[in-house]
Formats: sequence, C-alpha cells, structure tokens
Amino acid sequence: MHELTCPACGSPSQYNFRDFVMMCPFCSASFRLDIETGRKELFGDHYIIPNTIDPVRLKEHVTEWLKRLHHKPGLAEKEFVILDIRGTSIPFWIVSLEIHTVWKGVIQRSKRATDAKLGADYLTESGTFRRAYRWAVNARSNICENWGMARLHEPKEPVNVVWDGFPLDSTYSRGRLTPEAEGEKSAYERREFFEFKYANGLPILGCQIQEDEALRRAKTHVEWYHYNIAQMHADYLMDCRHEFDIAGMQLIHMPFWHATYAYRPANFLRHFYRTVEKHVIIEGINGGILKGELGIIHRDKVQINAVVTGGAAILFFLLGAVWTPMFFLVALFFGVVSGLSAYTAMIKLEERKRHVNHVTPAASNAKMKAQDL
Ligand SMILES: [Zn+2]
Repeated sequence: MHELTCPACGSPSQYNFRDFVMMCPFCSASFRLDIETGRKELFGDHYIIPNTIDPVRLKEHVTEWLKRLHHKPGLAEKEFVILDIRGTSIPFWIVSLEIHTVWKGVIQRSKRATDAKLGADYLTESGTFRRAYRWAVNARSNICENWGMARLHEPKEPVNVVWDGFPLDSTYSRGRLTPEAEGEKSAYERREFFEFKYANGLPILGCQIQEDEALRRAKTHVEWYHYNIAQMHADYLMDCRHEFDIAGMQLIHMPFWHATYAYRPANFLRHFYRTVEKHVIIEGINGGILKGELGIIHRDKVQINAVVTGGAAILFFLLGAVWTPMFFLVALFFGVVSGLSAYTAMIKLEERKRHVNHVTPAASNAKMKAQDL
C-alpha cells in the first residue's frame, strides 16, 4: 500500500499499486497512476451497477429457487439449510463490439450420390452471420476467486463454453423468479458513474486487469464462440474468419451474491446421504439465479434405492441359504426392485448426458439458421 493524494479532491489515502484504476474513498473519483512518472490521470469510463439486494431478500430468493426445483416444494424448507451468504461488487471490462463471421465447409447430402467418386456425397456450403454484444471480461487477476465466475456464459446454442467472458445483457437478465416488468431498465442501463455508495454495503474489489488485455481476451472469447456456432452449420468446417467493430469499452462494477447451502433428506435416506456444500450465484439487481448447483436430483435418490434394495436382496438370499428357502422369494423381490432402480438411474444419467453434450450438427442446423441475424 502506498499513500497518494487524490487528483480530484486532494485527500491523501492508501492505494494498492496492483490496481489498474485507483478509487478515492472520499470523493469516489477514479484515476490511473503512471508509476514511473507519478503522473495521475482521472479515469471517466468507470461505472457501477447499484446493488439492490440484502441478505434477507437473498435468502428468500434462494429458498424460493430451491422450492421450485424440489419435487415436493413443501419439504424444501425442511431439507435445505442455507449456510452462508456473501455479496461483492466485482469489476468487469465491458467491451461493446460487433462481430461479423464468414464460414465455409462441406455438408453431407441427404440423398446418397449416384456417383461412386469419393467425396461425391458432400456439398460445399458457406455463409455469414453478424452479432453485437456487450462482452464482459472479469477485471480481477484470478477469475476463480469467486465461485462460478469462470464459466458464466450459457449460450442458447449447444456449445461447450471454454472461456470466462460472457454477454452482459443475456447473462445478467437470466434466472429470474419474478417476470420482467414493462419498460424495466436492463442491468447496463441501470449503471451510474462510479460512487462507493451504490454498492450499498458490498465490498468493492479493485480492477487488476488492463484495458488492452481485456480487449484482447474479449475478442478471443467471441471468436471461439462464433467458431463453435460456425461449426454447427457444416459437417466439416474448412474456413472461418471474423471481423470486429469495437464501439467502446467501459469499466463497470457489478453486484454479485454467493450463497452456500446443504441438503439433508427428511426421510430415512439421510443416513445414506453425505452432506455436501452446494453453491448458488445470484445477480444483485433482481436476484436472478445465474448459476446454481442442485442439491440432490431424483436420479441420486433412485441410485441410493438401488444400493439399499440390492443389499437387502443379498441379505435375504443368505438367509434363504442358511434358514428357509422362503427367503429366496423375498430376495428375488428386492433383487427385481434393485435392478429396476439401477436401470432407471442409468436411463436418467444417459438423458442428462445427452442434454449436456452437443447435438448432431444436422439437427441443430435448421435451428441455427433461424437465429442468425
Ligand atoms: Zn478524492
């Protein structure tokens, strides 16, 4: 920490030189410091989205969300315990950009070609699409210091997200429990020039990433995203190019809340279930659930059932062997129940896998074309 005087109000204060933008605790002015020359420069493109959530409201939101997921909503309050609630105002570089993607590839014909030549079944196709984003890049040097922030982007296309940036508008508006009111302002439109008071009690984290790095990362993320989209158009993508139009960059502090909770079944299953901490991440305007780990899913219960009845089947089989053959019938009954449970759990797992993994290019093609701008 080093002492500096604020270029706006002249008050001395302690600053961390690791921060790219200094924030005066007295007048909320943002400025940059050239460490070599000591020159200070006021930084105007710094905003904050006011936090409007408090721990009590947050708890209500998380409980409501858990109730909606629970197959017996009445039990949710008994079975879930909220362990910890924490809010933070995190800096993001918001890059307003437009990207134009041009692709070329080959697609398999639906009818087999009569020509026996290799490759005759394939046709060359090409296309373009253009999209605009306000792309958010975390301005902290460690993107994993807050749970769930490293993979916040949930695209509507079935692509595997391997980048940490996300489109601000579609991300910060999802997971809401209350419908959007008419004429309601978006998160971006709610931003104010940076002032500490808008955090409403949340700790404000410093900006540690420079503008040029954030811009480079935003471009890379969007390129990867668009490359994945282009890949869905063709069976074999051969070429994919992007052109960017950068409209501007702003530093915006955004309010996030993080809650941890634990699940404990209310019935006999509690003896077989290990309590694990689960996480939920919530935006600080409307309390939308941006990311949440599920406590227990139906499949888990079925799986536990399979193990318990399987154990009973073995026990009664042994009893049948040493005592009376009557028990073989009971063992058979438990064996059948266990087998059915295991089968159901397996089917559910497969369903989930199919849901998470990519769908075939051909199936998503028609859908993608409709979405293009
Ligand atoms: Zn000041």
